[in-house]
Amino acid sequence: MRHIAIVGSGPAGYYTAEAAQKQWGDDVNIDIFDMLPVPYGLIRFGVAPDHQSIKGVTRRYEQTALSENVRFVGNIKVGQDVSVAELQELYDAVILATGAPRDRAIDLPGDHLGNVFGSAGFVGWYNGHPEFASLNPDLTGQTAVVIGMGNVALDVTRILAKTRDEFAGSDIVGHALDTLMGSNIQRIVILGRRGPHQIMMTPKELGELGHLSRAAPRVDPHDLPELDEDAMLEPGIRKSVTHLRSFAAIPESHRADLPLEVEFDFFAAPRGLIGEGNVRAISVERTRIEVGRAVGTGEFYEIPADLVVSCIGYQTSPIAGVPFDERAGRFANDQGRILPGLYCVGWARRGPSGTIGTNRPDGFGVIELIAQDMPQAGRKAGRPGFDALAAERSLDIVTFRDWKRIEEAEQARARDDAPREKFVDVGDMIRAIGQ
Ligand SMILES: Cc1cc2nc3c(=O)[nH]c(=O)nc-3n(C[C@H](O)[C@H](O)[C@H](O)COP(=O)(O)OP(=O)(O)OC[C@H]3O[C@@H](n4cnc5c(N)ncnc54)[C@H](O)[C@@H]3O)c2cc1C
Repeated sequence: MRHIAIVGSGPAGYYTAEAAQKQWGDDVNIDIFDMLPVPYGLIRFGVAPDHQSIKGVTRRYEQTALSENVRFVGNIKVGQDVSVAELQELYDAVILATGAPRDRAIDLPGDHLGNVFGSAGFVGWYNGHPEFASLNPDLTGQTAVVIGMGNVALDVTRILAKTRDEFAGSDIVGHALDTLMGSNIQRIVILGRRGPHQIMMTPKELGELGHLSRAAPRVDPHDLPELDEDAMLEPGIRKSVTHLRSFAAIPESHRADLPLEVEFDFFAAPRGLIGEGNVRAISVERTRIEVGRAVGTGEFYEIPADLVVSCIGYQTSPIAGVPFDERAGRFANDQGRILPGLYCVGWARRGPSGTIGTNRPDGFGVIELIAQDMPQAGRKAGRPGFDALAAERSLDIVTFRDWKRIEEAEQARARDDAPREKFVDVGDMIRAIGQ
């Protein structure tokens, strides 16, 4: 019997478990650890609450989770409750699927000011991540600046722009919905150092901005390259740029009737945040593109900013004893191998890129490596060994069955038009198991 520990129950964790089952059938036992009592990582805490169909992928993970030889071990933080070295003593292979939960720092003068957030915090707030549930952003100002030209910037913008009706069917947490409904924001500026041809936004998500009930996107036609230059773009980006062209063509008369403006500010590099206590403005330098890179032109201007959310990427959290590549912000690894018996997968391996599905080949790839490195079953203690350690330390493990109780309780307390009302406090999650 092979004993495998997977640390992290997001997409990478579950796809890896699925791959291990395909590889070894009944001849493998898999424990999937998570520091939270609830599974699925960014499917629960990252993917936007108004994109429920995407969250449906968890049904596939549930099939894996309910197999005899797969077990969810929730509420256990690896690196704190148990070390990686201890797991390695107990399991033939330890696979880190811990994602990339920390924001890449914006590193600007004034980034300590109030009401300046990274997307991990801001998204975690509206998605009910226990670490960020009490973020309490102040939405009483008039202008929000969202830094970044990827899908996370679009998610944040859309959530700030939607009406109560547009949240029907979503699982946005109650505290965020209440704050958003009291929002006074009238202008959202999406700031990007580069131009329309360099955006990382996918067409479906960008297109949604064109269908908001109280906002219309604004793109300055002068920022758009000549139409025939779109031909050289990769088809997905070309479609996204077509959306930008249609936003540029929206007549002012249409915009005049709407209370909220969503404005793309291209070729605009943030250089500093200004304010005392809370942020008040952002200093920006105009850029131009030279060989694909944004370079400053020396022309500076200020945008009023009462709220700033930077959506510029994520980093993995280091774990004691695991080699870490500081520059890349992920575990130091060669195709997924970190050290003998220790592997990584998903965002913890390759950084924050790709879609949910990109983590599937990653999972199958790492299991192939392990099969090469470990042709024979090992002699480690596996599950019973961990259970003994957990009992010795009085660790309060949350099982998959426990999670299903939490899920039921969340469904039972949902608003009429919502699939669930998430618990945002670990204590409340644990209490829901006992009820
Ligand atoms: C805001 C946002 C929106 C997104 N929207 C989409 C979308 O609409 N469509 C799409 O295809 N992709 C989307 N993605 C990308 C997608 O979420 C990722 O590709 C995917 O979640 C990465 O999977 P992962 O398993 O590597 O990491 P994660 O999903 O982050 O899972 C990591 C897990 O590890 C656990 N963990 C971390 N450290 C420890 C530890 N020390 N001990 C125990 N457990 C630990 C965490 O609690 C978490 O459950 C989005 C990403 C973000 C940030």
